[in-house]
Amino acid sequence: MTATLIERLTATLRDVPDFPSPGILFKDITPVLADPALMRDLITAMVAPYLGAGVTHIVGVESRGFLFGMPMALQLGVPFAPARKPGKLPWYTDRESYDLEYRSDVLEMHTDAVGAGARVLVVDDVLATGGTAAATCRLIERLGGNVVGASVLVELGFLHGRVRLAGRDVHAVVTFQA
Ligand code: AMP
Repeated sequence: MTATLIERLTATLRDVPDFPSPGILFKDITPVLADPALMRDLITAMVAPYLGAGVTHIVGVESRGFLFGMPMALQLGVPFAPARKPGKLPWYTDRESYDLEYRSDVLEMHTDAVGAGARVLVVDDVLATGGTAAATCRLIERLGGNVVGASVLVELGFLHGRVRLAGRDVHAVVTFQA
């Protein structure tokens, strides 16, 4: 019997305990990147719910969101724009801060990355608490864009990231409940 995409991903993603700090079970996507057939099927699955949704731009979140967002943009035939850590982008930027467990962080985008009225799909590898994706959505909206949804490879359902993205369309290929 052929394994489903979810079975293949679950078998390929590598769980790394206590990285980058004690108590975190890190979902290492590098074995997925190393499997071109799996990547091809994964990118197709991450794009699929948004075919016909009028997406005009993809925004990938630094840094692993770039690895999935760019091939998705190629498949949709739309521009890709990065949301980056502060100080990385060379042109005029706007920024959004968001709270993590013990600190706050900032994401920046070029002010000309998405024009007014753009229909933007946000892409990242993992949805955990949802803070990163929610900040990216707010930043896109401040730049004049509309957020069509957020597409991720993995959702850590037990962290309830969807709560921070309430009212937004969120698509995860694999959801872990523990
Ligand atoms: P959050 O803002 O809590 O949703 O965290 C999402 C961001 O942190 C994404 O950019 C992920 O790449 C990364 N991340 C959070 N938790 C994990 C995890 N357990 N394994 C891998 N990446 C994670």
